[in-house]
Amino acid sequence: MSSALTQKVPASPTRSAGAGRARVVAVSSTSDEKPGTPHRVRLNSTYIIALESAGLIPLLVPPLASASAAREILAIVDGLVLTGGEDVDSTLYGQGRHSKGGVPNRARDATEIALVLAAREMAKPVLAICRGPQLLNVALGGTLIQDIGSQIAGAVEHNARDDRGARVHDVAIEPGSRIAEAMGAVRLRVNSLHHQSVGEIAPGLRITGRAPDGVIEGIESESPDWWAIAVQWHPEEMNDSPEPWDRGLFRAFATSLGNS
Ligand code: MN
Repeated sequence: MSSALTQKVPASPTRSAGAGRARVVAVSSTSDEKPGTPHRVRLNSTYIIALESAGLIPLLVPPLASASAAREILAIVDGLVLTGGEDVDSTLYGQGRHSKGGVPNRARDATEIALVLAAREMAKPVLAICRGPQLLNVALGGTLIQDIGSQIAGAVEHNARDDRGARVHDVAIEPGSRIAEAMGAVRLRVNSLHHQSVGEIAPGLRITGRAPDGVIEGIESESPDWWAIAVQWHPEEMNDSPEPWDRGLFRAFATSLGNS
């Protein structure tokens, strides 16, 4: 006879596939903070689908009141995923807020910066998406372009919000880079849902992907000891795309964790 007290949690399919211990990754998320509305933590489910499809177990990290918890979190997971969302607080890179800049979520900024610094210190792999490369760059000392439309003359449309999966502009990836290796391609067409981008690159990072207008679309760690790649587009929205590139990013992340 089975009861709630005797039932067992099912074994992880990734474990039974002979791939060794299942890998758990911290995934950043956001919180709604508007006065007069319920305050909730949220994350688009497409990230979860993409990570589970790559054999990984996602563990969500909300914006925390105490960013010092980041070290404890990184100590118990195998890697870190930085997800899309709000504009990073411009004062964190020494600028006033542009008129088109969004309201920052300071608890999220502080939590994610602490997660990045802990991941680098522990040499745990990082996959960063959309806001992710921007946050990664600011965390390590770089700056951002606050509004592509007003600051880059002749920019292509980067904020194509009508269709999150539409491939709207090209990206040239540097041959031999970690992103090129992950995607198995150096010329690709991507979706684009951002109005900010990386500005001055931080020490320890390098630019490995650009749109035709020069906007930075891919950056990665220069260190051979720290696997960290960051893309400005949304590979998690391409879970059903016939092109294998975007799923390649999640596969490469899983491989970097020793889950090949
Ligand atoms: Mn773009």
